[in-house]
Amino acid sequence: DYGRTNNPNRDGLARALAALEGGAAATITSSGMSAIDLCLNLIKADELIIAPHDCYGGTHRLLTHRAEQGRIRVLFIDQSDSDALHEALDEKPAMVLIETPSNPLMRLVDVAKIAKLSKAFGAIVVADNTFLSPVRQQPLALGCDIVVHSTTKYLNGHSDVVGGAVISKTEQNGETLEWWANCSGVTGSPFDSWQTLRGLRTLSARMDIQERNTQAIAKFLQKHKAVTKVFYPGLRSDPGHKLMKAQQSGPGAMLSFEVESPELAAKILNKVEIFQLAASLGGVESLICQPSTMTHRGMAEEARLKAGVTDNLLRLSVGMEAESDLIRALKNSFA
Ligand code: PLP
Repeated sequence: DYGRTNNPNRDGLARALAALEGGAAATITSSGMSAIDLCLNLIKADELIIAPHDCYGGTHRLLTHRAEQGRIRVLFIDQSDSDALHEALDEKPAMVLIETPSNPLMRLVDVAKIAKLSKAFGAIVVADNTFLSPVRQQPLALGCDIVVHSTTKYLNGHSDVVGGAVISKTEQNGETLEWWANCSGVTGSPFDSWQTLRGLRTLSARMDIQERNTQAIAKFLQKHKAVTKVFYPGLRSDPGHKLMKAQQSGPGAMLSFEVESPELAAKILNKVEIFQLAASLGGVESLICQPSTMTHRGMAEEARLKAGVTDNLLRLSVGMEAESDLIRALKNSFA
């Protein structure tokens, strides 16, 4: 009838993602941001959303500005702080957004626990599963109502698409979201959907290789004297390691690390080979970024520093190149 409403490529991708996440329905959108914005249609004006204080900078910006418009109310909290979570839930939120691992600090929160608590308060629980994809984490099985994705990342995996998806556990939410996506025209393009379907075929194999490389890099960085901290739940010493084992089938292929000074961080960014300087993530090629000046620059400085995103912090999206080449590139950049 009309491409904004239905398209075979887009519907095929929706069916595949709904199956992978264990949902009843999925809506394919033009970007990860439009997927998150679409979810706001499930709540009424002036209702409250609880979001992580250390969520992706674009999500923080969207919710902050939607709140400033009077479209919603938002409370950013540290969701791993049980007192803060209970206090926020007492405010009777209509929606709770979870992002685990968080971007860029790879902090994990207990999805099943937050979902159960939030639902007891009547909130819709939305999980952003972009960083892990359904091959490493299944938020619907852990009790969430909705999963959102930036398909730009692991699901497509080749850094040549910008897209998003919202997967619903129930037909009812799925129908509401599909209706709004058509009404507001945020549905994804047929060509992008086709490319994402093609990328999806290698998701599991890509994740295995990228994760193996990341584990090796994390161990290398942990031993380097110029590195003050490594954030990767795959490391036994990471505070999220135990939770990772419980709710994920692997730690994924994103990591962050802090170096001694912002000057050193800037030098590594500019000198390192192989890792391209770019804000995206989840593709087959390795990327490096400085979240404070790139992915999280849209956040107010105070909120950014409170979330722990300093100028000393660098984030890696580890790709499929040879492990030895990646480690050599990092070693040389430090030298
Ligand atoms: N969610 C997370 C966790 C992200 O990292 C990003 C982008 O980096 C988005 C959502 C937004 O996705 P997009 O860039 O496809 O709009």
